[in-house]
Amino acid sequence: TDIKTFANEPFVDFSQPENREAMEQAIARVRAELGQTLPLHIGDQKIVTEDKIVSINPANKDEVIGYMSKANQQLAEQAMHTALETFETWKKVPARIRADYLFKAATLMRERKHEFSAMMILEAGKNYAEADADTAEAIDFMEFYAREMLRLDQINETQPLTPIPGEDNRLTYIPLGVGIVIPPWNFPLAICVGMTTAAVVSGNTVLLKPASTTPVIAHKFVALMEEIGLPSGVINFIPGSGAEVGDYLTTHPKTRFISFTGSKEVGLRISRLAADTAEGQIWMKRLVAEMGGKDGIVVDETADLDAAAQAIVASAFGFQGQKCSAGSRAVIVESVYPQIVEKVTELTGRLSIGLPEQNYPSGPVIDESSYNKILDYIEIGKTEGRLVAGGNKADGNGYYIQPTVFADVDRKARIMQEEIFGPVLALCSAKDYQEAIEIYNDTEFGLTGAFFSSNEERISEALETMHCGNLYVNRKCTGALVGAQPFGGFNMSGTDSKAGGHDYLLLFTQAKLTSRKL
Ligand code: GLU
Repeated sequence: TDIKTFANEPFVDFSQPENREAMEQAIARVRAELGQTLPLHIGDQKIVTEDKIVSINPANKDEVIGYMSKANQQLAEQAMHTALETFETWKKVPARIRADYLFKAATLMRERKHEFSAMMILEAGKNYAEADADTAEAIDFMEFYAREMLRLDQINETQPLTPIPGEDNRLTYIPLGVGIVIPPWNFPLAICVGMTTAAVVSGNTVLLKPASTTPVIAHKFVALMEEIGLPSGVINFIPGSGAEVGDYLTTHPKTRFISFTGSKEVGLRISRLAADTAEGQIWMKRLVAEMGGKDGIVVDETADLDAAAQAIVASAFGFQGQKCSAGSRAVIVESVYPQIVEKVTELTGRLSIGLPEQNYPSGPVIDESSYNKILDYIEIGKTEGRLVAGGNKADGNGYYIQPTVFADVDRKARIMQEEIFGPVLALCSAKDYQEAIEIYNDTEFGLTGAFFSSNEERISEALETMHCGNLYVNRKCTGALVGAQPFGGFNMSGTDSKAGGHDYLLLFTQAKLTSRKL
């Protein structure tokens, strides 16, 4: 066919003045559309509710991004009915046509790339490069999952089974039903788009409940899907509170699967709720969960220390550390520990803080509860380590916190064990690289990690022994690329799913075997 091999969307180089200007213009355009009232989407109905989620700019608390209509249980029930009904037709739409919707949406999003990024700069507090990477990843997910559906369709035709004379045996992957999609606010476009389109292209219909801090960018995606002509009722958009709408749908007898990305606490709660069977429920719900991390970087004495320090700082403080892939710990062999502490401190001090729209390297954290939680952890850190950078809130009419580094932290300290989801880094020393790996592995999580060394044998050993879903060598532990670095972790980091990988669509299907006597 005419479909090109998948390739990642290139990142925009904002050191070029014309690219910076283009983004500034996009921000001005997006700003002109702020403050609107936005509806829920249930089938072809657009519903404006009395009750609203007010989305604000975390970098300037007085700026309202939008007033998002909010679903209650009754509207959630209505959306469930619509999704159930639409599933009956959508599941019969040929894979090629389902994939085409994603190709079209990817093309349109690419054309309006800066507009999507600008909205995230204002609604989530991302700087230019972080927002651009988010939009690029959203495009990648659609391009990738569309191709994956075509591949799966091919497999459905040709799945090799042991031949039995006189029989025609076939195995095909069919969709599951109605899924609840609950994406996070930290990749408010990419992960929202990835989770939603993977489920939909596989033939399911969904109820999308966006993160309450970033509903406007999610709505922009839903509007795009409508614009490219995705049949109504395939994606139903129902912002709402976790306690009201989230729990209701998680326990709903007609919910077939739940696709969740977010904290460990919420993921475990969903897992418990979804394990119960409701009256009239005829299946076990499937849960795909991508949860937290306490990711770390291990540095041995043979490593390129400058590269290691740069990677530690980039992994810890990119988007203010608000990534489940963030490197919030670093474990360093003691003979080079003082140098790394010095370099990391120096690089961290250079991260100036200010408005994301002016592209400062460090911006605000997402909201008040995150802000308070992170500041509490900084106080805990002051009792657990030696403060070498930051340690305080920062100026501005938003949720600004200084990039903070604690040195000499014990491996069992809370700031070495608990996910903070903010700009706080703990440094710890180890007597040798083996002890450093042991400390790295001493966590309930297992999402990302990195090993810095120039010694081949040690690298091989680290590749085998560091226990995490995404392990990198001599580079930062954030920024997995769709298709190239399928993303997802072990243990308390989730259900071992791999977004952007070849197994991902299978999570939204079930295999049916047919055997026909000839
Ligand atoms: N995939 C992203 C990365 O590799 C992280 C996703 C997340 O934080 O949920 O940095």
